[in-house]
Amino acid sequence: MNGLRKGSKDLIKEMNRFIVINLIRKSGRISRSDVSKITKMSLSTITYIVDGLMSVDLVREVGVATSTGGRRPVLLEFNADYGYTVGVKIEEKRVLFALTNLNADILNLVEKKFNRFDNIQDVVAMIAGEIKELLQNADKPMEQLMGIGIAASGLINRQEGTIVRSSMLGWENVPLCQLLSEQLNNIPVFIDKNVNAYTMAELWYGEGKDLSNFLCISVGAGLGMSLVVNKKIYYGESGGAGEFGHTVMKIGGYPCHCGQKGCLEMYASEFYLLNRGSEIKESYPETIIEDFSFEEVSKGAENGDALAIELMKSFGENLGYGILNAINALNPHTILLIGEGMKYKHLFLDTAVDIARKNFFSAAKIQTEIRPTELGDDSWLKGAALLAITHLFQAPIYEESKSILN
Ligand SMILES: [Zn+2]
Repeated sequence: MNGLRKGSKDLIKEMNRFIVINLIRKSGRISRSDVSKITKMSLSTITYIVDGLMSVDLVREVGVATSTGGRRPVLLEFNADYGYTVGVKIEEKRVLFALTNLNADILNLVEKKFNRFDNIQDVVAMIAGEIKELLQNADKPMEQLMGIGIAASGLINRQEGTIVRSSMLGWENVPLCQLLSEQLNNIPVFIDKNVNAYTMAELWYGEGKDLSNFLCISVGAGLGMSLVVNKKIYYGESGGAGEFGHTVMKIGGYPCHCGQKGCLEMYASEFYLLNRGSEIKESYPETIIEDFSFEEVSKGAENGDALAIELMKSFGENLGYGILNAINALNPHTILLIGEGMKYKHLFLDTAVDIARKNFFSAAKIQTEIRPTELGDDSWLKGAALLAITHLFQAPIYEESKSILN
């Protein structure tokens, strides 16, 4: 973390500009007098700051508000096309890219297959090449690319921009942000865990906008968690908070790719279907299930395959106990369930919620809301873009901070 800047009149002026631009961004459309009321800065100060923001084209006037009487105020709007970012999501076998404006609206999407065993320099060159092509195809000049946000799995050092260890990708100590930035005119590159990127989208324009303490639990190929405490993602000491999938569900249980045994991820993600499926398959000679993917097992359960039905039921139970443990340990207001596994929620969600609802707090009639997210799959990429956008609009309180106004 950089050192804090010394307090000064100039710093206060800069901070005020950030308060104003961020309020305009979040409001959609707002008048100068409402900005003044909300920020408690005088109307003349707001007029001065807004003039400055308009002169660099970050803010523009967009017509007048409807009013019940008196002069109708002119409304201000953030110019989201001031610049662009690219959100990148690295999965096991493919990389997804989204070109977005500064509101994280997706303008263009591409996906590229890749081999995680390739030389890391080649992977970085592929990512840089795709980003350049994405801008070119959308007719946006590279100078308007303001930042890149990467969502990846594993233990990530956000400050240094490195993937410390990702067992899914098999990468260790990869300084991804620096390598990519070097190939793209030193554009700032930010990185975070997949589930934290998604949670940024929840915080910015999802249900998280109105919540202070909540969890996002991702159900799919793995089991991830992001914790929001007082409206901020909690990172822990090494950035690894939320490795909830690797809390132990069963002592001496199924071996996990992390090196432990009996991890929750082995019982409440796609891994479970294979782990348990291969164990009990012989007792179900009539089953047609072969590869134990979410898709195949769900289809089987819908078609009455007894093995598939048993697997989805016990999967729901395991997930329920996992959620219950999260509630008891963290006492969140809401748990939002996200991830590709939620496509099959009709086969396990009721079972899981029934179990999780009978928790430590139930006796005191304190209930945690448990529900699927309302956001769509594109939120992974919007969230990745928000990793960069959030940095651009961060008040410049740190030495050497890079933001949009300095
Ligand atoms: Zn594990």
